[in-house]
This record gives sequence, C-alpha cells and structure tokens, in this order.
Amino acid sequence: MEPLFLQPVFKERIWGGTALQEVFGYDIPNENTGECWAISAHPNGPSMVDNGPYKGMTLDHLWNEHPELFGKPKGKVFPLLTKILDANMDLSVQVHPNDSYAMVQENGELGKTECWYIIDCKENADMIFGHNATSKEELQQQIQEGQWSDLLRRVKIKPGDFFYVPSGTIHALCEGTLVLETQQSSDTTYRVYDYDRRDVEGNLRELHLEKAIEVTTVPHQDAVGMKTVQEKDTTNITTFVESEFFSVYKWQVGGKSSFSYNDQYLLFSVIKGEGTLSHHDKQYELRKGTHFILPVGFGEFEVDGNCEMIVSHP
Ligand code: ZN
Repeated sequence: MEPLFLQPVFKERIWGGTALQEVFGYDIPNENTGECWAISAHPNGPSMVDNGPYKGMTLDHLWNEHPELFGKPKGKVFPLLTKILDANMDLSVQVHPNDSYAMVQENGELGKTECWYIIDCKENADMIFGHNATSKEELQQQIQEGQWSDLLRRVKIKPGDFFYVPSGTIHALCEGTLVLETQQSSDTTYRVYDYDRRDVEGNLRELHLEKAIEVTTVPHQDAVGMKTVQEKDTTNITTFVESEFFSVYKWQVGGKSSFSYNDQYLLFSVIKGEGTLSHHDKQYELRKGTHFILPVGFGEFEVDGNCEMIVSHP
C-alpha cells in the first residue's frame, strides 16, 4: 500500500493571480490562476494519482473502483475537496446551499460547507464573513437597495487564522489572500454581489439573488472556533474543527514523529517546508505544494523534517 500523491488541477478566475506559482512553484496555466484543485474527485476537475499502482487514475474512478481504500464508504461521491485559492482581487460575495436544498435545487449536488486556513495575506487584510440583517425582509431590502457597507460584515485576518464557513453564511475572500480551503465536494455558489465588475467583453457576471436570500442564515451565526493543540513526538497537532462534514487539523512537524492510522483515510496538503514520509521500506519526499491521501489500513508511518501540513478527513 502506498500514499496516493495527487496532481492538482488549475482554474482560471477573473480574480486570480500568480501566487500559486510564486509560492508553491506550480506550473500555472496563466496570470489569472485563481484556484488549485488539489484533492478533488469533483467532475469539474478531478485530480489524478501520480504514483504507485493507481498512477494515472482520477480520484473519482479510484473511489468507485477501489472503495476498500476508503473503507468501503456508503456515500456515492468522494465527499471532500481541497483547494488553494489565490485571491489576487476581491472575490464576489456569495453563499452556498446546504445538502437538502442542493439535492432538490441543484440536481443532487452536495451542499457546501467550507473552511479556510489563511496561508498568507497582505497586511491589514480582511474578508467578508456574515451580514448584519436581523430578518429575511431586511436582508432582501438591503440587497435590493445595494446597501453593501451596512449589510456586509468585515473581519480582519492574518496568516495562520482559521475560519469555519457553514452553508448559509454570506462570505467573500478579499484581495491579497492565499487560502487553503477544505470543503464539501460541491461547485454550487449563489452570487450575491460582484462589485458591479465587468469582464473583458463588458458583461456583468450573473447574480442569484433569489436563491441566495432563500439559503442565507438570518441572523448571521458566528461559528464558534474550537482550537486545541496536542503534541505527538515532535509534531504539534492543532485541531481546528471536527464537524459533521469534515475534521481539519494542522500538523507542524519539527523532527521525527511516528503515527499509525488504520480506520480512516486522511487528506494531506503540505503548505510550508519539506520533509519525508517513511512507510515500511519506502520513503516519499514531502515538499510545499504536495498533496496526498493515506488510504484506510495504511498503518504505521513516520514523518521527518520541518514542515506544516493541513490534514483532514470526512
Ligand atoms: Zn465559498
């Protein structure tokens, strides 16, 4: 059994930039690269296994054809999607539906609860997180009248911060932010406000106000941050969230550490530094920008080096 190293898929976005190349050394397709779909089985951009017996298979096929790697799960689709986002400009203000709404309105798609780990951001950066309306009527009215500065809640961010963004939360990343996002495997977004920006052809992007107002949680509920730190040998493990959709941790590796996992598959994204992963007689190089999955039954392994990884499981 080997780790499943994955090749990312890149997405052009009008708000994207070149940070994915500058920070992670990725071979990006153009200067407006906004998203790296790092661990994805979503049909809009599945990642491909880069090593071992499953080399060349996409993660969605692997999920269907080798369910034993994932503990023979009940779900039809691989439930998670890990991305790195380069918000070179403000993203549109948006909200995502929950599972039951998306099931009915979006042809059986999953809902989208997501979370963000701020890898880097410019000084004094902020983001939009929630709103100030006290009722649906007020939300509707403020949206229709374009009272954005009253309606939208801004919060300051800094590198190392973590935000849990449940479905129904109005949100937007703002200019100068590099984020690792762990989310449900869904591509359903309702756009609320796009700063009246026009594309090169002079067109506004479509808004989805009716659905957005329907799915937005009113009043806004601030997610309670739960953060605990544990030590395992020379690795500090920070627990950011353990929710019904996913659990997310940060592993700060500072030398040799031994682990053993059998019952749960784990997603890893190296966001800083480098190291090695040893498993039986094999060694694998870990470098900033590397993404991999350890399948169910992987067992004992050792990590060495100096690196930071975001780790998650459903
Ligand atoms: Zn979102």
